[in-house]
Amino acid sequence: MKVQFLDLASQYRKIRNEVLREVKAVCDSQHYVLGKNVSGLEAEIASYCGARFAVGVASGTDAILLSLMAAGVGPGDRVITTPFTFFATAGSIARLGAIPVFADIHPQTYNISPDSLESLLKKNSKGVKAIIPVHLYGQCADMAPINRLARGYGLKVIEDAAQSIGAEYRGRRAGALGDMGCFSFYPTKNLGCFGDGGMVTTGNEKLALKLKMLRVHGSKVRYYHDIVGANSRLDELQAAVLRVKLKHLESWTGGRVKNAARYDRLFRKAGLEGLVALPYIQDGNRSVFNQYVVSVKKRDELRSHLSQIGVSTEIYYPLPLHLQRCFKYLGYRKGDLPVSEKTAKEALALPIYPELREAEQKYVVSGIAGFYAKSS
Ligand SMILES: *Cc1c(COP(=O)(O)O)cnc(C)c1O
Repeated sequence: MKVQFLDLASQYRKIRNEVLREVKAVCDSQHYVLGKNVSGLEAEIASYCGARFAVGVASGTDAILLSLMAAGVGPGDRVITTPFTFFATAGSIARLGAIPVFADIHPQTYNISPDSLESLLKKNSKGVKAIIPVHLYGQCADMAPINRLARGYGLKVIEDAAQSIGAEYRGRRAGALGDMGCFSFYPTKNLGCFGDGGMVTTGNEKLALKLKMLRVHGSKVRYYHDIVGANSRLDELQAAVLRVKLKHLESWTGGRVKNAARYDRLFRKAGLEGLVALPYIQDGNRSVFNQYVVSVKKRDELRSHLSQIGVSTEIYYPLPLHLQRCFKYLGYRKGDLPVSEKTAKEALALPIYPELREAEQKYVVSGIAGFYAKSS
């Protein structure tokens, strides 16, 4: 049997006619930039997330970059985030001449640890302007203590919700839990377009207006520039595709949640709990399972065994950001953030897309059982 890591084709087959009709309508209109599909999608995403405003931008990376700019982050400012995330989170901080400061992660949720965040702030809060918690793999970070600390120290909170559209924390959705929420529509995300795209949500009208200026080179009136911004717009073709797909998002998320629960059951039934640490969902959280990540010893050997029997897996992420070559100047050393470093060696993402079938999940779990039966 072959089990793909992600099968976008099976999703596309079901919505093909609907999507092509909308794409054709955009082409027929010849209106490609900032038209009714972008404004329509912005309203729909804002409402879906429970945020007052949403601003379409060119990518998830730009959503983070523009949010930092809107928050007034600039050269020499410090921004605290997690090292266990996709590069864009910290890369965007560094691109503005600001300094990424890394807190360690919670050993079970893999999200930024509020305790680690608090001890960083207690030690030295000078120059810190913002915090970027990442809602990793589809689960929200522990936002209550994070927001409490942010209020105490006067910091902006920018959620990196690229992997977590629709995720809930104590009944509220990702993107409505901080000052701004950043989404990515990269094809592998739960809501993916046919290329690059992103969105920022916010409850603050001033920030929304500033973001709208920043995506068009800082202008409110064409050719008059109040601030320096970027060319970072979501385009009409992508927005049209996303509006079709957004209607299916809840049902696709339901498929992911169901598949995650089924993996949990299969691993327990196979008696693998001692060897395979299953995803831990914090009380009050609804994960949207962009990834189903287990933590295992002998991770790399297991991964090549699975590959040999036809099961594709991924590693998110093999090297924490504080140890990346490009951040050498920050002065971190191996051992500085032990939980992130350990997790980077043990985390393994299994196929979890909505269309994944029960027989395929059983094959994955029995493949893992087979590996540990042989190797122990
Ligand atoms: C995908 C992702 C991004 C970046 O999004 P792009 O649209 O690829 O630029 C940022 N942060 C996290 C956590 C992501 O998973």
